[in-house]
Amino acid sequence: MVLAELGGSISRAIQQMSNATIIDEKALNDCLNEITRALLQSDVQFKLVRDMQTNIKKIVNLDDLAAGHNKRKIIQQAIFNELCKMLDPGKPSFTLKKGKTSVVMFVGLQGSGKTTTCTKYAYYHQKKGWKPALVCADTFRAGAFDQLKQNATKAKIPFYGSYMESDPVKISVEGVERFKKENCDLIIVDTSGRHKQEVALFEEMRQVAEATKPDLVIFVMDSSIGQAAFDQAQAFKQSVAVGAVIVTKMDGHAKGGGALSAVAATKSPVIFIGTGEHMDEFEVFDVKPFVSRLLG
Ligand code: GDP
Repeated sequence: MVLAELGGSISRAIQQMSNATIIDEKALNDCLNEITRALLQSDVQFKLVRDMQTNIKKIVNLDDLAAGHNKRKIIQQAIFNELCKMLDPGKPSFTLKKGKTSVVMFVGLQGSGKTTTCTKYAYYHQKKGWKPALVCADTFRAGAFDQLKQNATKAKIPFYGSYMESDPVKISVEGVERFKKENCDLIIVDTSGRHKQEVALFEEMRQVAEATKPDLVIFVMDSSIGQAAFDQAQAFKQSVAVGAVIVTKMDGHAKGGGALSAVAATKSPVIFIGTGEHMDEFEVFDVKPFVSRLLG
């Protein structure tokens, strides 16, 4: 189920409940079951969905609500709040300061959109007056440096990488040093992705993080990975201190549930979403407007 359909299904479930003559236990249960089904079909992790259902039932105690209460409104609000809670880990990501050097490391599987997202992130900040720079520490994938170079050149963002050096730790340290000297305030390190969650990938990531001491590690996740999202995000979180998530390919026919699972697994907020292949197809992610839009 794609995100728009998920929103539609949830809205319909709420509408159906609202149309009921009396909102009793059965009407509420029917509504919650419908929402549960929609969320599960969108690949939201089972535990998250179950917790949400339990929480709503706890908040909406039909017996305690006096006749005068607007049950519909209370239930609607509880559903809205629970969806927001799923996407909000309760603490904001580390805030970078313009003019003060920050190192941001990007991690994620190959094909997740990591390299594209690094440039989008740099470009977004450049437009806001930052001085970003890109470091290609992906020495594993042939063509990774060319891709970053091409993107960076298009966006007029300084970049660093090597065709010869095979040690990602060395390249990232050199790149970060160079751009620190050049007073860049946002140094972005693109790491290698590989295909699977291999031990070698995680070890490499750990070493790059140890050497460059990033202020923020961003986990990039393809929105279409479905139920695998939770385990994948958790595996990354266990190796490096992931502090934020960017979900890519939200323009496609992706199931949106993976984003919810990634937040739960990393306890980190989604800060941007990728909505296309182009540099400016990138949006700041805010939980409440997102959920409002989802529910239509
Ligand atoms: P990496 O291997 O993780 O570095 O992934 P890439 O940055 O090379 O991206 C893999 C593919 O996904 C490329 O064809 C990108 O153009 C595409 N891509 C990345 N982000 C998005 C997005 O938000 N939407 C769409 N439609 N495609 C994207």
